[in-house]
Amino acid sequence: DAITIADLEKLAILGYGNGGTVYKVCHKATSATFALKIIRSNIDINTRRRALTEISILRRATDCPNVVRFHGCFEKPIGELAILMEYMDGGSLETALATHGKFSEEKLFLVARSILNGLAYLHAHNIVHRDIKPGNILVNTKGEVKIADFGVSKLMNHTFEMCYSYVGTNAYMSPERFNPDAYGGSYNGFAADIWSFGLTLFELFVGHFPFLEPGQRPNWATLVCGICFNDPPTMPETASPELRNFIACCLKKEPSERWSTTQLLNHPFMCKDFITC
Ligand code: ATP
Ligand code: MG
Repeated sequence: DAITIADLEKLAILGYGNGGTVYKVCHKATSATFALKIIRSNIDINTRRRALTEISILRRATDCPNVVRFHGCFEKPIGELAILMEYMDGGSLETALATHGKFSEEKLFLVARSILNGLAYLHAHNIVHRDIKPGNILVNTKGEVKIADFGVSKLMNHTFEMCYSYVGTNAYMSPERFNPDAYGGSYNGFAADIWSFGLTLFELFVGHFPFLEPGQRPNWATLVCGICFNDPPTMPETASPELRNFIACCLKKEPSERWSTTQLLNHPFMCKDFITC
């Protein structure tokens, strides 16, 4: 039978986000645990639009093992939308980095392979995530790694459709999104996900955001200049040549030169043997 909101009991708050709160909930009849994201969609139309986008994309991606699993949605009369999803008991990679520190290359390999599998699935289904960053990748104690938070994602209806509709900004955005005119003004957004993916892996390996020194306070103007006008950051010598090259393929400034998910899945780093895995 379909789960209704009355069947669920709130246990704890898992996180706050843009216009929403994520709760750990218990399905009373079965004691199964879920995550419930409640969005106050009565406040403004954009928040509501984001919630509806997230629902439609999660629905399309239910058979991908590296996308957080969708279990249903509810609309409350007072204008709240709620999204029921699988509970990821390990939290996000952002919290994992803060609590356990930098990722070893073996751990990074497992995380990279999972995110890349998820991205390959999304891109093959014409979905651009547009907000890949450590806080939007969730893990569980089974060792699974899944992409979450599809609030600003986009389903590309036309092959040459562009991604200008998303006007949000975050530090993981690619050079062509900050500065579209410098890249001929046309890009489709798939390559932008790869840039964000590369920066995410870089950050997990070195322990801090790539364009900033450890502990340096982010200054938006300096950051944007660095991304748009400097060479892409290069991984430290402590990384294997395969890993360094893999990141370099993700962080090509020119979007047309950046590798696709298909190319990256066949990169030597993805084929490397990790004895400890
Ligand atoms: P933001 O826009 O700030 O990224 P958001 O409103 O889009 O946030 P999410 O990123 O989906 O919300 O969730 C916010 C936080 O809640 C996550 O970073 C994570 O810590 C936690 N969270 C979300 N979904 C789950 C889940 N399924 N299982 C466990 N924790 C979750
Ligand atoms: Mg988020």
